[in-house]
Amino acid sequence: MESFQHSYDRPSLNGFETEERAYQIKERIFGSRTLSRLAELDPSRDADQINTLLQESIEDLFKKSSNDGVFNDRTLRTIAGLFDIQLTNSTDKLEVLEQIDEKLSDLLLWRSALERYNREHQERQLIFRSEIEPVLKDRVESMIGIQIDSGFLPISRERVSDLVARLEFNAVDLLNHPERAGRYRANTHEIDIVLDSSFPTANSWNPEDVEKLVEQYTHTYLHEIVHAISGHTILGVSEQDKLSSVVSSEEIGIHKNHVQKIGLLYMKGAPNNIAGYAGKEARFNWFNEAVTEYITRKVLSTDSAESPVYQSEVDFFELLKEKTGLTDELILQAYFEDYVPSEQTGDKVPCWNLLKKQIDESLGPDGLVKLDDALRGLKGPLLYMKGKNILNKTPTEISPLHALLSQQL
Ligand SMILES: [Zn+2]
Repeated sequence: MESFQHSYDRPSLNGFETEERAYQIKERIFGSRTLSRLAELDPSRDADQINTLLQESIEDLFKKSSNDGVFNDRTLRTIAGLFDIQLTNSTDKLEVLEQIDEKLSDLLLWRSALERYNREHQERQLIFRSEIEPVLKDRVESMIGIQIDSGFLPISRERVSDLVARLEFNAVDLLNHPERAGRYRANTHEIDIVLDSSFPTANSWNPEDVEKLVEQYTHTYLHEIVHAISGHTILGVSEQDKLSSVVSSEEIGIHKNHVQKIGLLYMKGAPNNIAGYAGKEARFNWFNEAVTEYITRKVLSTDSAESPVYQSEVDFFELLKEKTGLTDELILQAYFEDYVPSEQTGDKVPCWNLLKKQIDESLGPDGLVKLDDALRGLKGPLLYMKGKNILNKTPTEISPLHALLSQQL
């Protein structure tokens, strides 16, 4: 199998300085429905309606992004920072949105703001790589080691060290990844950690902040490392990428692997693309994230995370355990189970098969797959509510129920 080792610098703002990108950022802040309704209105005639719409959208944004009315939507904060717009508790919210809207529409201004952002992001990357990441890596590896020694994690220290040593880390910018804090990409064995405008630049860097920053990023970093050390089945370099590598391999020096299993997530057989393995082609993503986050919290020794990452998934996972009598031991064995595809004899993933069998016995024939059919693509409270509904009505046949629920939601 080819080596995972590679190194390249992804231009973080590639393609940002365009009208389309400015629109995408606006869409992220205002919501696509609001933007399309705004486009239909005539400012000279419908000023009142436009104001109401903007007012509603900022109220929405505040409701979604904060508990106490403070501006903590990271994208909004970052964009406001680009244009030196002050955000405080007493800021007139409507005025801020109007200012952002106006500035995003001025492409010259947008470009110069992005140039500054780009420079600052490079400074942040450098600080993260040299000052924060090495400390994080040591700390997280030793925390994982404790849970290996305690018998909770069915994986060896050697295997963890090996997998972590081969990881490539990228500190990526928030504007490229507004929806997440981190990401593990199995096909290239890379972890992206998202830095936002609160991360220090060369000017604001203070060595005394190391501990605070390490603490701030530990949860995300550990969650992604757990993905990276989970059981993998890699079927080699994907055919699609062998073809595309004619163009790109010299440039970026990597092949993308065709991954079939990561933790509890399964690809449906199609070669995975850059967009990743959590899209339409993947199964049991909710299950995989729930267990990843469950492990992360155990390793951190926190029951309820400070940031409620995948809280609904974890809650639903607890319900599923209750309902099916699944044990942590079996779940974790299945999560860390991998096999060498060339050794295709016997039962290739015995723990996974046992896990599936036990769930099916509780939920009815093909219960786990039907549950996945009903929950795929859902996130957060919606996933929890729908999943809870299904569990409460089993073990009767769940397929008519899931069809009904799919229509309702
Ligand atoms: Zn995850």
